Amino acid sequence: MITLGIHGAAKTVTGSKYLLTINDRKFLVDCGMFQGRRDIRRKNWEELPFQPAEIDAVILTHAHIDHIGYLPKLVALGFKGEILATAPTIDMAKVLLADSAKIQEEDAEYRNRKGITRHKPALPLFTSDDAKLVNSMFRPVSYGQWVELGKELKLRYYIAGHILGAASVEIVHNDGNLRRSVLFSGDIGRYAVPLVSDPQPPPVTDYLVCESTYGGKVHPPSDTFHEMSELLNDVVDRKSVLLFPAFAVGRTQQLIYMINVLIKQKQIPQMDINIDSPMAVKATDIYCRYSEYHSVNKDLLGGEKCPVGGKNVILHRKRKASKKLNELKGPGIIISASGMLSGGRILHHLINRLPDPQTTLALVGFMAEGTLGRRISDGEKTVRIHKTPIEVNAKVVHQPGLSGHADSYELLHWLDRENLNPSRVFVVHGEESRSEAMAEQIRNEKGWKCLVPEMDQTIEL
Ligand SMILES: [Zn+2]
Repeated sequence: MITLGIHGAAKTVTGSKYLLTINDRKFLVDCGMFQGRRDIRRKNWEELPFQPAEIDAVILTHAHIDHIGYLPKLVALGFKGEILATAPTIDMAKVLLADSAKIQEEDAEYRNRKGITRHKPALPLFTSDDAKLVNSMFRPVSYGQWVELGKELKLRYYIAGHILGAASVEIVHNDGNLRRSVLFSGDIGRYAVPLVSDPQPPPVTDYLVCESTYGGKVHPPSDTFHEMSELLNDVVDRKSVLLFPAFAVGRTQQLIYMINVLIKQKQIPQMDINIDSPMAVKATDIYCRYSEYHSVNKDLLGGEKCPVGGKNVILHRKRKASKKLNELKGPGIIISASGMLSGGRILHHLINRLPDPQTTLALVGFMAEGTLGRRISDGEKTVRIHKTPIEVNAKVVHQPGLSGHADSYELLHWLDRENLNPSRVFVVHGEESRSEAMAEQIRNEKGWKCLVPEMDQTIEL
């Protein structure tokens, strides 16, 4: 018997956790943290509906925190198996989890010191020691390679685009009489975007667990390089400081690549790019290490060996260097995490620069409900950061073309492959209206049976 338990990213975009039970074996596909609204984050603290010690292996699609951020907690709760992932995903997961633990420890310490906590004392979800325990449990998997998961079971990874190392994963059970397969899409990236590879066509599968971040939505047509050059030339003209809140992994490196290509093409003047996020600094090193995984136009980069490096890329590791950026005069660029403004050094830059009309704040990609990024994106004129009201006088611009996620037509294009006709599709990883819209579109265009599962629903396959 095969069952699929949906224990995260059901009618929401975070907390991805799918429990695949095949006879007596259990696999957890992704092990993400819930992020965003308080009632969603609270789920990180609730008891799991399964026993971590009973899970044979965790299978990761990619290294975003909403797909890996619960791993240390899972290990602390008794998980002892292997964690399968691509090599770049493993490298990034190690630094991301260490970083996440540190942020939580610092946040808990800060709340306790300032007395701004409902919980006495405030605790981190996991500690740096918990995160370290995860590091020895990884097993690298290459794209396209069959990996035995034990008797009658195997898996294969496919390029999903999205970020470096991201994968869709096919899991096949074949007992000699019956062959059944489940495909987890992971997060599917866009086609023909700077730096990121296109998603690979999916294999034919019996069951499909499909993301729907942009279900029912279409990204406006955009020329990302052109928009970026307009933005930067405006920043130069206004002697503005451009704040780019960006995911430390993926988005930051994409921005560096694009800015450097524009400089090489002489579409914008030579500019320094300040990377102010310890995590982004480490992720950028990892992006350099896996140069062959990227889709880059080498001619545009001149002799530069790493597509996201260069003398003008200034990496700010220490807090003191970050503080010094407060004095930076425009024109200038600061790229800092987190992408949705839910934490990280970007908050200090926002407190410092949002009230100044000379600042430009460029919002890129998806802003989850309840995040500061969503509130500013919705046009709020005063926002609270660390409980302090901050006026938004900065010029706020949107760069929609840089989304890391396929829109609904791109998802349908991805699914457009001969003989693909899954008997059921489970639409996950989207706010409820997005998942419903995606399900409707798949039903209409493909005629496949779609279900938008509830949180903690278990389905017999
Ligand atoms: Zn992702």
